[in-house]
Amino acid sequence: MMKIPGIVLAGLGQTPRLETVALQPPGPDEVLVRIAASGICHTDIGYMQYARACPVILGHEGAGVVEQVGERVTHTQPGDHVAINWQAKCGQCRRCLSGRRDLCENIQGTAAPRVFWQDEPLNVMLNAGTFSPYVVVPAGGAVPIRQDMPLEKAALLGCAVATGVGAALRTAKVQPGETVVVIGTGGVGLNVIQGARLALAGRIIAIDLDDERLALAQSLGATDVINSRQLDPVARVKELTAGRGVEQVFEIVGLPQLMQQGLAMLARGGALTLIGAAGRQDEFTFLPRGFMSQQQTIQGCIYGNIQPEIDLPLFADWYMAGRLHLDELHTHTVQLDDVPGIFADPHRQAGIRTVIKF
Ligand SMILES: [Zn+2]
Ligand SMILES: [Zn+2]
Repeated sequence: MMKIPGIVLAGLGQTPRLETVALQPPGPDEVLVRIAASGICHTDIGYMQYARACPVILGHEGAGVVEQVGERVTHTQPGDHVAINWQAKCGQCRRCLSGRRDLCENIQGTAAPRVFWQDEPLNVMLNAGTFSPYVVVPAGGAVPIRQDMPLEKAALLGCAVATGVGAALRTAKVQPGETVVVIGTGGVGLNVIQGARLALAGRIIAIDLDDERLALAQSLGATDVINSRQLDPVARVKELTAGRGVEQVFEIVGLPQLMQQGLAMLARGGALTLIGAAGRQDEFTFLPRGFMSQQQTIQGCIYGNIQPEIDLPLFADWYMAGRLHLDELHTHTVQLDDVPGIFADPHRQAGIRTVIKF
């Protein structure tokens, strides 16, 4: 077994620590990846409150180089650059067979625990655990991408880009000319804006509390911005659309009151897409009569309903062609031993994406 450093969350409410863990070699259907870079996502920080199982090694947004493959792995080989996909599909359940791999009922992990801490098997966040210089992932968890994309940018493909761009293009299927509202302009929200821009949305309205983020939203494709500290966002959206409302609203923060506002912004036939992780007991209400006659939709969205093997290389191509902007999102670079300090005070974390470089 290989001894490596890793960021371990020992229990709910604790601050993750830098620990030494042991990593077993990959099984027949698994891949060993040397992680080059890993982004810190809100979900990593959220895990301090809602991880399903502890202790757990954190991290799920990463990219690296294939080091070793199991004997049945054919889609990749040592030396390949890969983006980590935290939803490796089984390919065999009813959903996969019906063409809806995004709804796979049997998301794959490794066949047996591969990471150990204090001689016990360690849980691995989202079957990835990228806050560590090496990971063993199920075959589908390592998606080859072009070699000329810098890996510290490619690290963002596997969560922020997949979730945000996927939500606009795959989940909501934004149409040319539609008006889109994005509530919350962090790493995911800015990528929803980019997805809407790539879909040729007519108008893209970004809502946030922070003027700096709103300025970035504008540089990435937002046509209008609303600081909801200064303006009532529902009234302002109605004003911008001559009272009609909008075809698409994306809620990325995970707060019921913002979902409620999003609902109030919808035009006839409009759709509210929920991306933000609300508390498990949170509720919001709607009036079904108006909803029925207005023919509106509320839909959930996880991981942007992407097809990872197709979409992650596509997003890499778009980045390299200058169509998808990631340099602006990668605002900070840190080392692995800086991570516990960031988690101790997540609000101190400025900018959009902090990337751990190995
Ligand atoms: Zn994430
Ligand atoms: Zn499946």
